[in-house]
Amino acid sequence: MDQGLTPTVEPVSKLIQELNKLPGIGPKSAQRLAYHLLRVPEEQARLLAEALLSVKQNTTLCSVCCNVTDSDLCSICRNDRRDRGRICVVEQPQDILALEHTGVYKGLYHVLHGAISPTEGVGSEDIRIRELMERLRDGSVNEVILATNPTLEGEQTAMYLNKLVSPLGIRVTRLARGLPFGTELEYADDVTLTSAIEGRQEF
Ligand SMILES: [Zn+2]
Repeated sequence: MDQGLTPTVEPVSKLIQELNKLPGIGPKSAQRLAYHLLRVPEEQARLLAEALLSVKQNTTLCSVCCNVTDSDLCSICRNDRRDRGRICVVEQPQDILALEHTGVYKGLYHVLHGAISPTEGVGSEDIRIRELMERLRDGSVNEVILATNPTLEGEQTAMYLNKLVSPLGIRVTRLARGLPFGTELEYADDVTLTSAIEGRQEF
């Protein structure tokens, strides 16, 4: 336990420990959250615990695009009004939320669940590239938009995918450079993201 934190009883320190494992939650925040949860009515704590378990037990990945879904196909893949000739490739499911929020993109998606990162030991076979290539086999897709993050890992992944996809005669585009380098898609604002989609360039 970090210095300066109040000594706590075991159930509380256990909760602090678990909260501290979440992204963006340091020891201080974990402690604050744990003591907050200690004060909420039992019913509210139960709802939170159930929601946590439910997200693990009642969700799966879409069998086509690997987005998070509660049925075999996600709502986007099921939607007949989406343009089936376009696939926008993103790193994480929450990137879809950001792009959908802009309302400008009407095609389908593919979620990689990561990016190639040799420094972190993530290779091309560790993310959902094989599933993407499978989708491109029947020739119905005419554009692949690479919407990986403008980070080192995202760029490496985009370059790798371009090498695989362009020989198939499919147009490969990349989100426009309006996105500042190092930012993650899910945190980009609508205006920036909209101009990035509309101004996408040939890879
Ligand atoms: Zn899907």
